[in-house]
Amino acid sequence: MLNKWEGIILKSIPYGEANKIVTVYTREAGKMTAMARGAKKPASRLAAVTQNFTHGYFLIRTGRGMGTLEQGDPIDSMRHIREDLEATAYASYVVELIDKLTDDLDQRANVFGLLQAALHAINEGYDPEAISLFVEWKMLPVAGVHPVLHQCANCGATEGEFAFSFQEIGFLCHRCFSTDPYLIRITPTQLRLIRTFYTVPIEQVGSLTLKRATKQFMKKLVRTVYDEQTGIRLKSRAFLDQLERTPELFPKRENPEKKDD
Ligand SMILES: [Zn+2]
Repeated sequence: MLNKWEGIILKSIPYGEANKIVTVYTREAGKMTAMARGAKKPASRLAAVTQNFTHGYFLIRTGRGMGTLEQGDPIDSMRHIREDLEATAYASYVVELIDKLTDDLDQRANVFGLLQAALHAINEGYDPEAISLFVEWKMLPVAGVHPVLHQCANCGATEGEFAFSFQEIGFLCHRCFSTDPYLIRITPTQLRLIRTFYTVPIEQVGSLTLKRATKQFMKKLVRTVYDEQTGIRLKSRAFLDQLERTPELFPKRENPEKKDD
């Protein structure tokens, strides 16, 4: 059966002399892998549309076994992501996270919407660190983690002082602080921020401006939850960590191939 689906390329792996195996997250049918014959050859009409992050319409033939990508029609090639090292690094993290947390043909409408909105926001030059952080919070339920953020996870109270508990994966009110010796005290501002990250629609995230310390705090929380609850390991994270530790080694708007020392 030949299908025309809207999708985004998560991964493109060379296969044999001339082919690529692409992983594409489609709006209509979820994630799938397809063989793109000849796509490794620069002259192939599939060469450009099978690059990572490409958003487009894809003609995919399905049947028994792996599908075949017959044609692609780009909507956006995500040029800025491709040309900016920092944008590439965060976009790679976003697609790897989504790839790791979803199964083939597992249809979740909100995942495509999140992926699409996040990559377009990064491509339009919004803070890629904030966008990827937002995706991490939004993907928690897909990872099977449902934090309790609207009330105390232990007693259900909605009034009082709150702390974040990794044990409960959510808030604890001051009456229940003694149930978790490792809880993290948070300010009312941080509490609102955590709720915002978890509930605000992705379309609004570009308008959030976050301070460095805020991002560090939010990242520490969400990554600890991922590390303790999911056990997934992302290859793109090591590079990101290095980028965040030593940003001066990665000057913006420069060709990463050109190293001068
Ligand atoms: Zn409580």
